[in-house]
Amino acid sequence: MTTQQNDYRVLLYYKYVPIEDPVAFADEHRAFCQELGVKGRILIASEGINGTLSGTVEQTRKYMEYMNQHPLFHDMPFKVDEYHQHAFKKLFVRPKKELVTWRLEDDVKPYQKTGKRLSPKEFYNMLQRDDVIVLDGRNDYEYDLGHFRGAIRPEVRTTRDFPDWIRNNLKDYKDKTIITYCTGGIRCEKLTAFMLEEGFEDVYQLEGGIISYGKDPEVKGQLWDGKCYVFDERISVPINQVEETVVGKCYHCGNPTDRYINCEYDFCHKQHLCCDECEETYQGYCSKECIEQDMVKCEG
Ligand SMILES: [Zn+2]
Ligand SMILES: [Zn+2]
Repeated sequence: MTTQQNDYRVLLYYKYVPIEDPVAFADEHRAFCQELGVKGRILIASEGINGTLSGTVEQTRKYMEYMNQHPLFHDMPFKVDEYHQHAFKKLFVRPKKELVTWRLEDDVKPYQKTGKRLSPKEFYNMLQRDDVIVLDGRNDYEYDLGHFRGAIRPEVRTTRDFPDWIRNNLKDYKDKTIITYCTGGIRCEKLTAFMLEEGFEDVYQLEGGIISYGKDPEVKGQLWDGKCYVFDERISVPINQVEETVVGKCYHCGNPTDRYINCEYDFCHKQHLCCDECEETYQGYCSKECIEQDMVKCEG
């Protein structure tokens, strides 16, 4: 048995706050990160910052110190995970129009208005009420790997699809109590702001997202089923410390699995849940068509 040394850390963080010159800030920030040696993906917009990165304990500690000394980010919370290596291959620091791509006609500003925040303990209590609607604030493929028990699965492939999906599917729930959650909390900031704008009366969001919920010493991730999808090389992380369940289903045979792989065919590359057996049977392809296409390419 090998013991794994977890001397790396993965950070997840965001803050909605006006940034005057996102392009200049991104240049300066990229230079700092390169110098430090961290890897990951950091987005900077006029509405704030959203980052996930990995580095050694020392590198990530310095990064958090640096950010917490900045007047705009002195109170920015970091979610910290242990890991045995970098969780990213490269570093991207990009100026963007929006931190999460919503493309709303009338953009909402979460630092002006957003849903009420719930601590993990408060969220846990609300989850157990019959009169509360639980809405997953993520995409369908994230839900399929794991979600809170009883949560509604939005049929959206990207965040951009949310506004229409909500208008079409939730219009009868405007007077109900709705609680939302996402990975680290950032998507719910605008999701709940948008819902308030649309006339939903009682909307809450899980502060710090699923990741913070899983780390809460009292709640211990309870009522979470499956694993939590993450956007780095780990693909998923465990949340529920009390009971472990698998909710993912193999794309081919339907057997339980929580392993996502990408289709071997480069022009497809579809990420799909796949059990060990089917990975061998299908050779890592998502479909017979992709196997055939790839063969045609080889022969041609
Ligand atoms: Zn299978
Ligand atoms: Zn494919």
